[in-house]
Amino acid sequence: MKAFVYYGGKDFAITELPKPKAGKEEAVARILCASICGTDLRTYRFGSEKLDPPITIGHEACYLIEENGKGVNLSGRYILAPAIGCGRCRSCEKGRTNMCDSLRTIGFQYPGTFAEYIRIPTEAIERGHLIRVPDHVSDQAASVVEPVACAINAQSYLNIAIGDSVLIYGAGYLGCIHAELALMQGAEKVIIAEVSEKRRMKAKAFVPEAHVINSGDKAYLDQVRAITDGIGVDVVITACPAGITHRQGLELLNKNGRMSLFGGLPGDNNFHLDSNLIHYKEAGVYGAHASTVEQNRQALELVSSGRLNAEKYISKFALEDADKAFQSLIDESVEKAVLIP
Ligand SMILES: [Zn+2]
Ligand SMILES: [Zn+2]
Repeated sequence: MKAFVYYGGKDFAITELPKPKAGKEEAVARILCASICGTDLRTYRFGSEKLDPPITIGHEACYLIEENGKGVNLSGRYILAPAIGCGRCRSCEKGRTNMCDSLRTIGFQYPGTFAEYIRIPTEAIERGHLIRVPDHVSDQAASVVEPVACAINAQSYLNIAIGDSVLIYGAGYLGCIHAELALMQGAEKVIIAEVSEKRRMKAKAFVPEAHVINSGDKAYLDQVRAITDGIGVDVVITACPAGITHRQGLELLNKNGRMSLFGGLPGDNNFHLDSNLIHYKEAGVYGAHASTVEQNRQALELVSSGRLNAEKYISKFALEDADKAFQSLIDESVEKAVLIP
């Protein structure tokens, strides 16, 4: 089978690999569609120290069961919540399996989804990580559900309520998804701040209810204050890899505001937050990492019920054109790229 394999450094290549076989209590699925995550893009551009190459990356996909191992009886299409907890540690016992002490994730510790086939590990099956995709949901839409679950995870800390103002940094797929989720929670003013003009144009079309502004222009700080009648925003979400947004977001945060440091930063890009601002504003600052099975279920429900149209963000590429797909993300000509093996 063909797979897009990471060889370390910034080296990737389409490679012919043996088709996986289902062992006892395992299954093998055909990948119908695999989406490229911001994390995959970061690995493609800068390499990753967290991976043990050679490895096939990718963790957002629509799966079709092809072979059942002994003791397994699955059929049809699924998504798979990719972050698999041990089920025994303190975080897992509290249901926060994404915080597991020995978390293992598809496309990181397990071979990933940028391939024609994938082996589904026993623990994913027995811990309920496979979630059935309803017939009316397309392969492509299913493949972009997992990042929505990650946004749901981040927003679970933020208590976005009716009348709130929400500032989101980054107009990529996840920035727009955060905006859509905030609007669903009843946020009154949603502002998307983005440095790239191409992305701002797209965000305006994708989320017409949002104010889309240019955070590359210093005057944007005053613009946010003007939109929020001088009081700043109730919630800040950073969905981009720029550390400066952590500092500026905290400045723009209202009293009792909540802030999610959603997007990870490249290793050497840590900004120090002014902790006195957190203190005097009684602000809450939260992290976010991956998602639980339940959050993937909720995300799929949003897509399947039609409340969230994830399909509109997608551009399709053949697996063999993976390099082209990554390049299109880098030059911002597409919002969310998916690979069809
Ligand atoms: Zn992802
Ligand atoms: Zn655990």
